[in-house]
Amino acid sequence: MKNHPRRAVLIGAGLAGMGLTARTPRAASAQFERSPSLDRLKMWEGWAQRAPIRVSALRGRIHLIRKEPCANMLVLSGQDGDAPRLMTDSGYASCQSALENALRSLGRGKIDRLINLQWHWDHTDGNAWLHRQGAVVTATPQTRARLTSYQLVAIFGALIPPIAHEGLPTDLVRAPRVIQRDGERMRLEPYGPAHDDSGMLAHFEEANVLQTGDAFLTVGYPIIDYSTGGSVSGLVRAARRLYEIADADTLVVPGHGDVARRHDLQQWHSMIEAVYETIRRQRAKGLTVDDVLLSRPTARFDPLYGANGAELFVRNVYEALEFT
Ligand SMILES: [Zn+2]
Repeated sequence: MKNHPRRAVLIGAGLAGMGLTARTPRAASAQFERSPSLDRLKMWEGWAQRAPIRVSALRGRIHLIRKEPCANMLVLSGQDGDAPRLMTDSGYASCQSALENALRSLGRGKIDRLINLQWHWDHTDGNAWLHRQGAVVTATPQTRARLTSYQLVAIFGALIPPIAHEGLPTDLVRAPRVIQRDGERMRLEPYGPAHDDSGMLAHFEEANVLQTGDAFLTVGYPIIDYSTGGSVSGLVRAARRLYEIADADTLVVPGHGDVARRHDLQQWHSMIEAVYETIRRQRAKGLTVDDVLLSRPTARFDPLYGANGAELFVRNVYEALEFT
């Protein structure tokens, strides 16, 4: 079967959020409001294609590639320039040529292993072209399952189609696993239900670089995709786990946004736990989501995570508690 075009079908008004809201251009958001039938995945692909690409040396032989709204991607090079390389997350398929150029600028080795840190399209849409060029795709069984059939993502009001068969992960991570490679030890550890049900962390232990997927962001409040198995209490646990793994020297690569440190993980964990506990108690007392919003449960965190995304986050937590 050839690639079929992936189309995100709009299935409802959904929430005002357009993916990672803190970085959402206002103009694009307004455009969406006027065109409720707009194909969202196509729109995100377009943004990704037009976005600048930035490649930076992180530590050791690890480079970071950023091209929002693609997820942050890492490349682990071999001992010499021709050795095969490993990559984490594949971004949008529309970014193929920009990513190929970036990869060429870093070395000549082909990417022989691609690791998906979760199933969402901004982490997996480029799987097929990387597989065609020789990459075995590694991910959790949940990532594979969600990429195999249509997925309703309620928070974005979108129905996401399966990816081309050749892009599906074939090397499945069911429990924590260590990959030894070119002097680097890479530990993969599934979160269980958190941002969604498919995520895992990747810790490059020698370089001490911890990549989190969307269980941790530095662009604003978290997103809980409860309709594909996300859980607020699970996200609290994932945040605590990340904080436990990190030390003062760890470079923390979030799913989206700038590289952070252990201290940022600690704040993130405290924030999610506090907001979760507050909203859980309010819901149990029978407060509606509008009552909860009026009480401004995120007020003390808004200076750090952005007041713009607060309402979406509060609604998201409330709905996630209702759903799970
Ligand atoms: Zn993401």
